[in-house]
Amino acid sequence: MADNKNTNVKGISRRRVVTGFGALAAAGFLPRQLPAQNSVNEAETLIIGGGIAGASTAMHLAELGRDVLLLERGDIASEASGQNMGGLGGNGWGNNPNLLSYLTAGGVEIFRHMQIDLGYDMEFRMSGTMTAIHNEAQYEYYQDQVASLRSGGYEIELLSPQEALALEPQANGELLGYVHTSQRGQADPVKSTRAFAHAAEMAGAKIHTGQNVIAITPQSRGGYSLQTQTGEYRCQTLVLATGAWCGPVGKMLGLNIPIVPIRGQMWATKSLPPRIFNTIGSAESSVAWSRNNGSDDVTPPNLTHKNTNRSTRHLYGRQRKNGEIIFGGDRESLGYILNPDPAGIEINRGHAAEVIPVLTTLPIARTWSGMMPFSLDGAPIIGKIPLRDNLFIVSGLASSGFGRGPMAGKLVAEYIHTGHMSGVLTQSDPARCVTE
Ligand SMILES: Cc1cc2nc3c(=O)[nH]c(=O)nc-3n(C[C@H](O)[C@H](O)[C@H](O)COP(=O)(O)OP(=O)(O)OC[C@H]3O[C@@H](n4cnc5c(N)ncnc54)[C@H](O)[C@@H]3O)c2cc1C
Repeated sequence: MADNKNTNVKGISRRRVVTGFGALAAAGFLPRQLPAQNSVNEAETLIIGGGIAGASTAMHLAELGRDVLLLERGDIASEASGQNMGGLGGNGWGNNPNLLSYLTAGGVEIFRHMQIDLGYDMEFRMSGTMTAIHNEAQYEYYQDQVASLRSGGYEIELLSPQEALALEPQANGELLGYVHTSQRGQADPVKSTRAFAHAAEMAGAKIHTGQNVIAITPQSRGGYSLQTQTGEYRCQTLVLATGAWCGPVGKMLGLNIPIVPIRGQMWATKSLPPRIFNTIGSAESSVAWSRNNGSDDVTPPNLTHKNTNRSTRHLYGRQRKNGEIIFGGDRESLGYILNPDPAGIEINRGHAAEVIPVLTTLPIARTWSGMMPFSLDGAPIIGKIPLRDNLFIVSGLASSGFGRGPMAGKLVAEYIHTGHMSGVLTQSDPARCVTE
């Protein structure tokens, strides 16, 4: 499949692919491996969770030559990684890349590599993002933000409404201005996550779907035994990539993993001719969270609601390749309740129409929701959990895990392979927050 022309950009290996085989298989045309019946399945490293974080970890570990098996209770991309908006964040690498730069700019490079070099159709494109500024307070906030980020070497600019309309003709020309970030992109969530899983299989990883892990037992001779509803698995190294379910999975190991499930919800128009080119956002929530992020002992920062009361409006959206215009933004802590809230959808639609006025006339064709893994302190949780042997986690990616999951998976795979924590992972060290 690959012609072994390897180059390297910030540690991301590039293999040029000469067939379009990957795209076919990622779309679901290849059979998945089935677990061996009535026997114990063993692998050196087991990953629980077939979202983008687990699939990327599996791909990168397999590419490093590791014996890896991924367990997913549903299908690949059946939770947040398949339900999100598909926006890839970030402002480039900057002059002095931190964890955020690695996860965002590095993530974009991995998406680019998967689609352009490996031939997967992930609907990836570098669309840029346009963030609407509605009032003076937001304008002042973003003037400072943009100046500070630009001085750090990040790519971001403040545009007048006229300049914004030249890039996004459907944007509201009556607003005060827009923040434009050229280094952001978009991709299809399901196709992309499946592409990572397929690339993992191509590199030698095994993937067992329909395997709900219900018990995890540390073994006296080292390693772990995992019980699913239909089988038993054993490994030396275990990786938790279970997104919003890290809490209950951590309990199986006697651990308290402070990840709170946060409901996100979205709506879509019917398919329409292309008319929105960037991903679209609004400055309202950033300014509100800069004043009061709403966090406490049981509530993560930067939600739109507290105790069911709305504190701000958040907005993200884009037009998909199939023509649907999709928007969302609400982030609410409700346990594992998943039903979309129609009142919140209407508020979000009104917010979107303030930025893209044509939306006022377009009815909602469908709505959906998903569970985001928010950590209590707002930072990702990526690395080794020191309270147990050979136990790793890649999670806490909150509302940005589609874009950040690929690099998070690469970083944790390299940690497992080398035994050394990359310096940037200091900021996401599980030791700071995972307890017994
Ligand atoms: C509406 C919405 C919009 C969003 N928009 C964006 C966006 O535009 N850009 C962005 O970057 N991010 C976005 N996000 C956030 C992003 O989707 C998540 O951060 C990311 O998908 C998390 O990936 P994950 O692999 O950690 O978790 P998941 O995708 O949730 O994967 C975890 C997997 O673990 C499996 N699992 C759990 N428990 C078990 C068990 N016991 N046994 C076996 N398997 C188990 C689950 O079935 C699941 O498939 C959005 C999320 C939502 C809900």
